[in-house]
Amino acid sequence: MNTKLNCQGCGVHLQTEDKEGIGYAPKSALKREEVLCKRCFRLKHYNEIQDVSLTDDDFLNMVSAIRDTNALVVHLIDIFDVEGTLIKSLPRIIGDNPIILVGNKVDLLPKSTNKRKLVQWLQSTAKDAGLHVKETFLISSKKGQGIDELTFQMENHRKNGDVYIVGTTNVGKSTFINRLIKQSTGENNVITTSYFPGTTLGFISIPLNNKSSLIDTPGIVNRQQMAHYVSEHDLKIITPDKEIKPRTYQLNSQQTLFLGGLARLDFIKGEKQPFVCYFSNHLKIHRTKLENADQLYKNQIGDLLFPPDLETLEILPPLTESTYRITEKKKDIIFPGLGWVSIPEGNVTVAVHTPKGLAASLRKSLL
Ligand code: GDP
Repeated sequence: MNTKLNCQGCGVHLQTEDKEGIGYAPKSALKREEVLCKRCFRLKHYNEIQDVSLTDDDFLNMVSAIRDTNALVVHLIDIFDVEGTLIKSLPRIIGDNPIILVGNKVDLLPKSTNKRKLVQWLQSTAKDAGLHVKETFLISSKKGQGIDELTFQMENHRKNGDVYIVGTTNVGKSTFINRLIKQSTGENNVITTSYFPGTTLGFISIPLNNKSSLIDTPGIVNRQQMAHYVSEHDLKIITPDKEIKPRTYQLNSQQTLFLGGLARLDFIKGEKQPFVCYFSNHLKIHRTKLENADQLYKNQIGDLLFPPDLETLEILPPLTESTYRITEKKKDIIFPGLGWVSIPEGNVTVAVHTPKGLAASLRKSLL
């Protein structure tokens, strides 16, 4: 049910049906004197930001206000799904405002990862997508790594202006903001005492000081994220929850690796060599002969090749294949939303199978 009421916190139009959507309030809340959407309610009473989501177009309509302000934009992305979480329309949305790019979930990378290279790669990937980024940081919202340095630089770059936090769903935006809230409430209970509505509907403003605010924007839904094509159960399996342990396979040509049944890598041509896999420790990797791979997939998808579970099978797009001739050493093949396979020696031809719409890509190895 769409109601005629607006949230007295952020001003958004209230609805009582879509719990994850913007403006949700349970029916019982409509009778209260101060009617708040669930998101504002949680912020007010629990000091906690909860994510709501919007499509790209709705978001565009909502946030054109950012263009007309002098603000710093902090764009959070997931380092395991850069393609799926980098918002390519950001310059259109925010105009000339400066961007700080933040790669979240760094706690999941093996300790040996070259973070400097990762930052460089993120920066050039953003540049290729048309994003002019002032600085790039790696953080863990969950563990707190890199947060102090980032907040220090946010303070530097915002020049007394507001800070908009933008990101697609699942990148860890709520975890990040909740951490910032905790930090500032630890010092002086600024949020609970002076929390006020954002100037744009659906934005939540969290005062940083008397003059400026941190503004949480709704998460954008990017359909091209693996997270949208798998069940909740499978998402738990493919999302790393701890530091990734690399798994190395010495492959001969004409061998195949299945990543569960969600993706596949065929070693078509080249000398025997190591393929180093960086995926959630819970994702089963299955090695087979290339000549048996099609049949195995047909017979064992959802069984031996797991995930997908039944629910995922219904929504997962069919696998499509791209062939790469990799002449250089030390390349990573990225499987969006899953992880990557590093090929230290190179001089190989491989075929990469990923769900349609989630194209694989190559980069210089991070290790
Ligand atoms: P939002 O949709 O962007 O608000 O994302 P959430 O804050 O709800 O986080 C999505 C998922 O990622 C949750 O399961 C979080 O626990 C997890 N997460 C968020 N930040 C981190 C992080 O820094 N490291 C790890 N390992 N997981 C994270």
